[in-house]
Amino acid sequence: MTIRIIRRGVPPSEKIYKVTCARCDSLLAYKMEDIEVTDDYREHKSFQSLNCPVCANKIFITQHVEANELLKEEINRRRNIDGY
Ligand SMILES: [Zn+2]
Repeated sequence: MTIRIIRRGVPPSEKIYKVTCARCDSLLAYKMEDIEVTDDYREHKSFQSLNCPVCANKIFITQHVEANELLKEEINRRRNIDGY
C-alpha cells in the first residue's frame, strides 16, 4: 500500500533555528546547511558557527533553538515580499 502521512513532521535539514548575534543584536534565522563546522583536533571537539550577515561576527552555536511559529510566519512573509 502507499504510505500515508498522518501527521507531517519537519526533517532536521528543513528545520529553522534562531540565534541572536551577541555583537550587533541582530536576530537571525538559519538552517543546518548554513552552519560551518570547525574541527579542533587538539581538543577532539568540533565547533559549529555561523557568520553574522550584518556585522560579520562569528557566532558560535552550542545549542540550536528552533524558531517559534511567530518567527516562521515572519520569515515566510518576507520570503513572499522579497520573492525568493
Ligand atoms: Zn552581528
